[in-house]
Amino acid sequence: MIQSVSSLSGVGPKAAEQLRLMGIETIQDLIEHFPFRYEDHAIRPINEVQHDERVTLQGKVHSEPDLRFFGKKKSRLTVRVLVDGLLVQAIFFNQPYLKKQIHLGDVLVFSGKLDRNRLAITGGTVKPKTLERDNELEPVYSVKGDLKVTMLKKLIDQAFSQYGDDIHEILPEQLLTTYRLIERKTALYHLHFPADLDMFRQAKRRMIYEELLLFQLKMQLFRKKEREEVTGQEKRFPASLIDEFIQRLPFPLTGAQSRVLKEITEDLISPYRMNRLLQGDVGSGKTIVAAIGLYANVLSGYQGALMVPTEILAEQHVESLTQLFEGMDVKIAQLSGSAKVKEKRETLEKLRSGEVDIIVGTHALIQEGVDFHNLGFVITDEQHRFGVEQRRVLKNKGLKPDILFMTATPIPRTLAISAFGDMDVSTIDEMPKGRKPVKTHWAKHDMLPRVIEFMKKEVQRGHQVYIICPLIEESDKLDVQNAIDVHQQLSIAIQGVSVGLMHGRLHHEEKDTVMNSFAANETQILVSTTVVEVGVNVPNATVMVIYDADRFGLSQLHQLRGRVGRGSEQSHCILLANPKTDVGKERMAIMTETTDGFELSQRDLELRGPGDFFGVKQSGLPQFKVADIVEDYRIVEIARQDAAKLVYSTAFWTSDDYRMLRETLEKQGAFRQSKID
Ligand code: ADP
Ligand code: MG
Repeated sequence: MIQSVSSLSGVGPKAAEQLRLMGIETIQDLIEHFPFRYEDHAIRPINEVQHDERVTLQGKVHSEPDLRFFGKKKSRLTVRVLVDGLLVQAIFFNQPYLKKQIHLGDVLVFSGKLDRNRLAITGGTVKPKTLERDNELEPVYSVKGDLKVTMLKKLIDQAFSQYGDDIHEILPEQLLTTYRLIERKTALYHLHFPADLDMFRQAKRRMIYEELLLFQLKMQLFRKKEREEVTGQEKRFPASLIDEFIQRLPFPLTGAQSRVLKEITEDLISPYRMNRLLQGDVGSGKTIVAAIGLYANVLSGYQGALMVPTEILAEQHVESLTQLFEGMDVKIAQLSGSAKVKEKRETLEKLRSGEVDIIVGTHALIQEGVDFHNLGFVITDEQHRFGVEQRRVLKNKGLKPDILFMTATPIPRTLAISAFGDMDVSTIDEMPKGRKPVKTHWAKHDMLPRVIEFMKKEVQRGHQVYIICPLIEESDKLDVQNAIDVHQQLSIAIQGVSVGLMHGRLHHEEKDTVMNSFAANETQILVSTTVVEVGVNVPNATVMVIYDADRFGLSQLHQLRGRVGRGSEQSHCILLANPKTDVGKERMAIMTETTDGFELSQRDLELRGPGDFFGVKQSGLPQFKVADIVEDYRIVEIARQDAAKLVYSTAFWTSDDYRMLRETLEKQGAFRQSKID
C-alpha cells in the first residue's frame, strides 16, 4: 500500500504529478481518496425534497431550452420542466450542447440542487433517460487540474485489483463482532463502488467507526502520556482556609459550583498536570470558582494567571478579585497593553520577583518578556481555544502550570470530546438560586416604536438597557443598523436620559469612561457593538435589544443575552430582525424557545456545522475523511469510551489481536508524540 501510484498502468509522470497535487502519492492515498458525496439517482417526488437539497427529478420538458452565453466560455441553459404537476425551472451551467439534446415534450431526468423559493433546480446535470438501476448511488469525486474523474475511478479500480490483497484488517475481532462491522477491505471497496444502498451504509459505518476510534485512541494516548509525566507541582494548602473563604462569601455556592471546585482542587493537589475545561452557562458563576482555585494555588506558594480576551474583562476581573480578597495577603495586578511603559515594567518586575500573586491580562500574559517567579496555575476565561499553541509557549518556557479553560459557550459534548479529546471536562449545570430566566421576544423592525416605548418604561423604573448593533458605521455593502446612527436616533427619541456609545474603535480610556459610567448607572442606555459580548457584569441592566439579530450566530446571541438577567429583576431580550433566510428565522425561533445554553449550542452546531462553530481560525478541530462529528455523534461517543478503556487495558498493549491496531497507531506517531510537541 505504500507503493507509488506510478506502479499502476496508465500513470506516467504527468498523471503522477497531477495526483501528487491532490495529495495522492501512494496506493493507500489513492484508496483513501473517498468520494466527497454520493448522488442518489432514485427519483423522488418533489414535495418531499427540502430546500437546498440535491435531488434527481423526472418531468416533461415544457419550454424550448433557452441558452445564454456570457463571458468567453460561460453559458446558462434554462428550461421549464413539469414535475409532479409543478413547473420547475432547470438551470444548467456551461453545458451548451444540451440545447440540441433537450426537446419540447421530452421526458427529462435531471438532478441538481433544489431552490424551493424560486422552484428551480440549479447546478443541474442531465441523467440518462432510463436508469439502469433504481437506487443507484453514484460517487462524486473532487479532482484537480486536468485529471478526469473517469481516469481517477479507473485507477482506484485498478488499485483494488492489483493491491487489494494488501489491505489488512486493523480492528480486533472483538470490536468487529461487538458492532457487527464489515471487513476493512470490503468497506473500502464499497465506499468507491457501492453495490447498493445497504452495502454503502455498512461500508460507511465501518470506516466512520475506524476513523473515530483511531482519533480517540490518539487523544487518549496523549492524555495518558501527559498524566504519566509527573510535573512535581503537588500543591498543598490548608483546606480550612478555603472553607473559611467560602463561608465569608455573600452567598452559598451552588451544588454544581462545589462539585466543580472539588474537581479543580483535586487536580491541584495531584501530581498530574491539570488540563481541564470548565464550562458553564453565562452567569452560572464560573468566576468565583476560578477565584477559589487561584486562592488555593497562592496558598500553595505559587503564582496564578487569569487570561481574558479583552481589557474590559481584565479590569472587571481585577476589580472583583480585589473585592473578594480584600484584607487578605493576596497581591493582584493587571498587565495591560495600554498601560504606561514604566508601570508595565514595574508590574513585570514584581511578577519576576514573586511579589505579585495573581496577574490578570489578555493572552499576551504568557508571551515574550513575561517571566514568572513560579507560575503554578493558568486560567483562561471565555476563550474557546486557548489551544495547543499557547501550551507550547508555556512548555518552551519550561513551565508546566495547571491549566483551566473556562467557557460560557457550552460546547456540545460531541464537539468537546473531539476538539478537546485530551482534556477533562467539568460542567456547571446549575444556576444560582433566585435567577429569573430572561424573557426573549422577536420583533420585526417596524415594531421599533413599541420597543422604544418599552425601553423608556424600564428606564423610568430605574433599570438600564443595552442595545447591540452589528456594525460601527454605515456600510454600503450591508444594510444593517450601525451603532453610531442608532445612538443618534435614540438620543433624540428618548429625551431626558443619558445614552452612551461604545465600540471597538474608541480609545482605551474612552471605553473605560463609557463602561464605568454605565456600571454606575450614570448612563441608562448603552448602544454598543459586540465588544460588550463577553463577561461584562452590570446587574441593574434588564433589557437587551439586538439589532439585526439574525446576523449573529446562536452562541453569540446567547452570550449577548447573558449580559442581562444578572440581578433579581425580570429581564428581557428583544431581537429586532427581519430575517431573509430560513436559518435566520430558525435562529430567532430557537432563541425565543430556550434559555438553556447547552441546548442552544447543540442546535447551533446543527445549523452551522462544526467548522463554523468555533470560527474558522480557532477551530482546532480534526479533519475527518468519512466521519461527521455532528451526524455521527453516537459513534463519536462510543469510540471515545472504547478508546479510553483500551489504552488502560492489557490486551491493547500485549494481545496479538490488537497488533495491527498498535502498528497503525505507531505509524501515525501516536506513541511517540504528545499533542503539544
Ligand atoms: P459567569 O459564569 O458568566 O462568569 P459570573 O461568575 O460572572 O458568571 O457570576 C455571575 C454573577 O453571579 C456574579 O455577580 C456572581 O457574584 C454571582 N454568583 C456567583 N455564584 C453565585 C451563587 N452561588 N449564588 C448567588 N450568586 C452567585
Ligand atoms: Mg465569566
